[in-house]
Amino acid sequence: MDIKKKGELVADWDALKRIFVKPESEASKSALVKYMNKILFGLNDFLSTHVGVTEKASLKDMSGRFRNSIIRRTPEKKLIDVITDLIEDIAPHAVNVASPYFIGHMTSAIPFFMVHLKTIVAALNQNVVKLETSKIVSLLEKRLLSKIHRLLFENTDEFYTEHIQNPHSTLGCFIEDGTLANITALWVARNRALAPRGNFQGVEKDGIAAAHKEYGLDRCVILVSRLGHFSLRKASGLLGIGNKNIIPMDVDSENRLDLKKLKQTIKELNRPGSKTKILAIIGIAGATETGSIDPLVEINKICREHKIHFHADAAWGGPTIMSEKYRHLLKGIESADSITVDGHKQFYMSMTCGMVYFKDPTIMDSVTYHAKYVNRPGSVDLGIKSISGSREATSLILDSALKIMGTQGYALLIDHGIELATMFAKEIKQRENFQLVTRPVLNIITYRFCPPQVQQKLLTADSAEKKQINGKLNEINRNLQISQREAGKSFVSRTTLFMENDYNKGIVVLRSVLMNPMTTLDILIEILDEQEQIWKNEMSNCFSDISKKGCLYHRPSDQMHG
Ligand SMILES: *Cc1c(COP(=O)(O)O)cnc(C)c1O
Repeated sequence: MDIKKKGELVADWDALKRIFVKPESEASKSALVKYMNKILFGLNDFLSTHVGVTEKASLKDMSGRFRNSIIRRTPEKKLIDVITDLIEDIAPHAVNVASPYFIGHMTSAIPFFMVHLKTIVAALNQNVVKLETSKIVSLLEKRLLSKIHRLLFENTDEFYTEHIQNPHSTLGCFIEDGTLANITALWVARNRALAPRGNFQGVEKDGIAAAHKEYGLDRCVILVSRLGHFSLRKASGLLGIGNKNIIPMDVDSENRLDLKKLKQTIKELNRPGSKTKILAIIGIAGATETGSIDPLVEINKICREHKIHFHADAAWGGPTIMSEKYRHLLKGIESADSITVDGHKQFYMSMTCGMVYFKDPTIMDSVTYHAKYVNRPGSVDLGIKSISGSREATSLILDSALKIMGTQGYALLIDHGIELATMFAKEIKQRENFQLVTRPVLNIITYRFCPPQVQQKLLTADSAEKKQINGKLNEINRNLQISQREAGKSFVSRTTLFMENDYNKGIVVLRSVLMNPMTTLDILIEILDEQEQIWKNEMSNCFSDISKKGCLYHRPSDQMHG
């Protein structure tokens, strides 16, 4: 912080005071302004020139630099040097998620104003756990919860007038991410199903064992298609349900929850004398791997018939509701008891923002917590019903973004993604070396490399041959994805899908998520060209003899993330 003799930095009160209240010295200010100017007023250029430009360095080599766990007692660097390090040394090795060639994940380019808004939110540093540290911001957040609730549930004017600023009503809550939003929804569903009655004070207070005893149960389960997000397993682990009791259900040929199987499973679980309770059924509105949407209308019907909580996981697909052209895909979502939506996905916010909405404004009462010094009963304190304690006012960012973009602006982005995915699928189908594995519903598609002679062979192969061929194709697609990623120009992700009647170890597919408005069909064509080139250069001898094992060297495994 401060320079004492011999150029040594020390932490003292003069230096601290400067950090908290006094302006920067001219020298460090001008250096800071140089970088901030680039970030705030030329984000796109800044990212393409500073971030992810030196992919060559291997993770193993880099990790060598991060092996010292000692925090120095005296200051190590001045602010300007730390900032220079971040921009000149760290950023080049980070991932340029904003590149239009980076189409593998749900993290992409954001409008530059998101960074401006984030800066202001950081500067104001409101804590929305309670009114005393947020005041007007809590009121604004409640209004935004109403706005998005209205978008999703389309309730009446009277409904929103009654609940918008009502301290006793909770239409939803902001939380850090989709995982916590799903956990919140299932927390509420669990407490609703195992509610207080008689001397039993409810599962939240008396615990799972007492709840099972009261309700004559030996297990609780949650039903979701096998494409359910892994956050649901975390939720049931945390909630004492046990994550093996998230029951993965089959999907139909379009990757939608298979309703016949669902009905059959419910019947089995509810057979006379059964001690199993179904806490919730989840409809996915935009599956993470395939973008597919479950039949929400029918799932709702089934939930009503059996009095089961209906949770819609729209972490990805929720914002589709803003598109006049495609909102019909979400039909039925308005009947859900709870809905998860992520702000950092298709609301294009910076990391992170999750939200969960509830149809019934009183349903969150079962997760109410008070403390003597904050969150007193009857106050608007948003922390009363929330897993989080202290929390950033990300609602300020989303509220402002909605003003800047309008639902129409967001709709343009949604429509672009879906239509680009359709064109990409067409291009893939036209190329003899590729197989489209899942048709796009939203803006996610999966496909795999599969040369024509192999496609031909698969048509007539018996199951043993199929197994062998698919095993090899999996290896090829895995290596193809890694090679392309390591080359550093383009990035698609990779996952394994379990298709009916197919290879039971699953089919390795290349997955692309088309959300960046700068991504064009020409770029997608380049990406496919590059994949064909990698095949030609590195693996084209793989099928010279189908029975020959291991045509590729084995790469260390790595996993896909959201
Ligand atoms: C991304 C995603 C989640 C989890 O969201 P995070 O914000 O990564 O925690 C949950 N469900 C679905 C369908 C998702 O796509």
